[in-house]
Amino acid sequence: MTVKIRLFVDHPLGEAQLVPLDRDQANYLFAVMRLSVGDAILVFNGKDGEWQTEIEAGNKKSATLKCIHKAKALQEPPDVWLLFAPIKKARTDFIVEKATELGAAAIFPISTDFTNSERIRQDRLQAHAIEATEQCGGTYVPTVHELQKLDSVLDQWPHDRHLLYCDEGLVGTATAFSALPSGKWAILIGPEGGFSDRERTKISNMQQSFPVSLGPRILRADTAAVAALSLWQEHLGDWC
Ligand code: SAM
Repeated sequence: MTVKIRLFVDHPLGEAQLVPLDRDQANYLFAVMRLSVGDAILVFNGKDGEWQTEIEAGNKKSATLKCIHKAKALQEPPDVWLLFAPIKKARTDFIVEKATELGAAAIFPISTDFTNSERIRQDRLQAHAIEATEQCGGTYVPTVHELQKLDSVLDQWPHDRHLLYCDEGLVGTATAFSALPSGKWAILIGPEGGFSDRERTKISNMQQSFPVSLGPRILRADTAAVAALSLWQEHLGDWC
C-alpha cells in the first residue's frame, strides 16, 4: 500500500505510540482528504524518523493516530547553516523553503547594515520549513532562528566552523569549490543592497572565512542562497 499523506507532528513517535493531532490536522484528514478511521498516514517529528500510522479515532475536530512501524530513519543533513539577510516577505519565505529542501541544517536570518527588513515572524518561517519538509520527503526540520545582528553572530563565531562568504565583490572571478576544506560550514548571503564596506572588511578578516564568487552575474539574494547551497552540497555535502 502506498501512503501519500505525510504530516509533521510535535509528539514523540515509537512502537504503538498514540499521537494526538491538532484541530487543523484532523480537519485536513477528515474534511479535506476524506480519510476515515483505519486509514494510513505517514508522520515525522524531526527526531524519530518517519512512521507509518493508522487513524485510531477521530473526526473533523480531533484525531488520534497510532504508530505501526518505522518507515524511514531520521536523515540528518550535513552540517551546513544558512545565514541570510531577510528581504521581502515572499522572497524570505522562498529562501526558507528552498534551504529546507536543499538540506540546510539550520537557518539564521541576520540583520546587516543594509538589511531591507528589520522584522521577521520566526514562527511563520518555522512553519514554512515544516511544510517544505512535509512535501520533500525529508525527516529533519531545520530550526529557523530569531533575527540576530550580523555583528553579534560574527563576534561569537565558532572557531571550528568555516564561513562561505558569498561576496558580490568577487563577481566574475572563479572560485574552486572543489578546493574548499570539509568540516562544519555556514553560508553567508547579504541583503539586496549588499554588505557594507565595514562588514566586508570584518568578514574577510575572519580566519574561518572563505570569500567566494557565484559566477559572472550578480544574483538576487534568494537566487544566491539557492546557488550557494547547491554548489556547497555538490562539492562538500550529501549530493557528492
Ligand atoms: N547590490 C549588490 C551589488 O550590486 O553588488 C548585490 C547584492 S546581491 C543582490 C545579494 C547577495 O547575494 C550578496 O550580498 C551576496 O552575498 C550574494 N551574491 C549575489 N551575486 C553574487 C555573486 N555573483 N557572487 C557572490 N555572491 C553573490
